[in-house]
Amino acid sequence: MNHRHGSVQPWLRRMLVLVLLAALWGLGRYEVACAEDVFREVQGDHFIVKYLLADERENALRILQRAEDYYKRVADGIGYSRYQEYWTWERRVNIVLYPDQMSYARFTGQPVWSKGYASRDSRLFHSKVVVSYDDQPDFLEEILPHEITHLMVWDFLGFTRKVPIWFEEGLAQLEEQGKRDVVQEAMQGVVAAGNAIPFTTFNSLNITSIQDQTRVSLFYAQSLSIVDFMLTRYGKDAFRHFCRELRQGGEFEESLARAYPAIFRTLFDLEWKWKNYLQNDFIPGGSK
Ligand SMILES: [Zn+2]
Repeated sequence: MNHRHGSVQPWLRRMLVLVLLAALWGLGRYEVACAEDVFREVQGDHFIVKYLLADERENALRILQRAEDYYKRVADGIGYSRYQEYWTWERRVNIVLYPDQMSYARFTGQPVWSKGYASRDSRLFHSKVVVSYDDQPDFLEEILPHEITHLMVWDFLGFTRKVPIWFEEGLAQLEEQGKRDVVQEAMQGVVAAGNAIPFTTFNSLNITSIQDQTRVSLFYAQSLSIVDFMLTRYGKDAFRHFCRELRQGGEFEESLARAYPAIFRTLFDLEWKWKNYLQNDFIPGGSK
């Protein structure tokens, strides 16, 4: 993917960025300048991609196209489609792209391990925003769809709606390319070995409070596994119905029972049937 930056030498790009950063830093108006003056942009129906250097335009256009595609797919998945006017024109989402991890971390104050984040009301950019950096292989296929989904789910369900974190993270991972099958196969083994996180803990677990990296990975995998199970096993219509119930203010378990009558009366039904599906019905490599 190195060719994507055209003819500008990497060292020259880095220097240009450093000069830009230094200038802004020196002016003491780092954040404002960064948000309003320096970025170039390309605009689509629902997104604006902001980037720093002229030779990134082609790449920004490619990102814009992918973002618009993800928007349609996520909207279709959660039943957001008829609310699509929400994000047009002045309510479009900014995708702000730094050239590399260093400038991203310095500008945004994100920790060094962070690959990207989404915000509904960014102090830095005064809008709904996805912020990340370009110089990483999984940006287009993982980070971009993940953060776009978070924003859409917050909008659709309402930001204050209390849904378990696993449900949100499960949704956010659905459009990450190629992840579902890998995760389902892994979770099949985890469940068979009795190592899944019990729902009594899982349902109220806040991953930001977990230090153990293995447990964080398991939490994400289990989240995706359950949401994928709901969709694959019971279809899109029931899933959209469930999302609609949540949007209308239903409690999580109550909405589950309404959208899946006689299937999930409680969260324990969901847990039990999910495990049962992985152990008896899921065929690795054979599912779509
Ligand atoms: Zn997430």
